[in-house]
Amino acid sequence: MDTIKLSIAVKKELAKISKVAGYLWQREWAERNAGNISMNLTSFFKKEDVQGIGEEVAFDFPKETAGFVLFITGTGCYLRSLIDNIEEAACILYINEEATGYSIVWGGKSEGFGPTCELISHASIHLFNAQNNPTHLAVVHTHPIELIVMSHHPLFNNEEELNRHLWMMCPEIKVFVPKGIHCTPYALSSTSALAKVTIEAFKTRNISLWEKHGATSTGEDVEKAWDYLDVANKGAKLLLTAWGAGFEPAGLSNEQLTELEQFT
Ligand SMILES: [Zn+2]
Repeated sequence: MDTIKLSIAVKKELAKISKVAGYLWQREWAERNAGNISMNLTSFFKKEDVQGIGEEVAFDFPKETAGFVLFITGTGCYLRSLIDNIEEAACILYINEEATGYSIVWGGKSEGFGPTCELISHASIHLFNAQNNPTHLAVVHTHPIELIVMSHHPLFNNEEELNRHLWMMCPEIKVFVPKGIHCTPYALSSTSALAKVTIEAFKTRNISLWEKHGATSTGEDVEKAWDYLDVANKGAKLLLTAWGAGFEPAGLSNEQLTELEQFT
């Protein structure tokens, strides 16, 4: 199979992805084939680098994603494989100029490889970011334990209150997840319905917490996307730890939370 040569800049991004995949595995946020990672690499390539390489596979993308070059993990692939086998467990694909199909231009070397079944969600988020939040090139979806637990709690039905409960646990949560999490209603995995509700989430919040499933965030690179999830999950873990110890945490006051807004 034809494959392209990667620049040092792209290799650096792939190294960060391998590193974050290791974090996800160690945190038990990426059991079996759970989770997926993608990055919009369009600006890292020239058209002539990626056109005419690999076999085209038909896929119904949103029209405006035509010409996108995306790094994306494979369907059924284990995220922990990204640590030392990224070329097998993930690929870089090029969406054709009509947005009617893609071709894999790098990686995807494992037997029967195909991009994640969440491809439509990832492509839609990258399109949304390209139009509204263009510095955010990376998307991470994973299964953070304590945040998922919170998506089963009655507080999940009151987004404002849920965010206040997370923010009040310690200052860094307000500072580094300033827009908070979105309580994204349950939708079936790999459907365009899930893509749609996720886009709604990113219109107002830093994180989309998929009800009874997992969480998704975006960032300038994969490490920055991971940071949102890591910090938000810390809030959930602190809250659940206090409840588990049998007391209601005092929490930062509304005044103290407002005072922190100067750092966001
Ligand atoms: Zn998931």
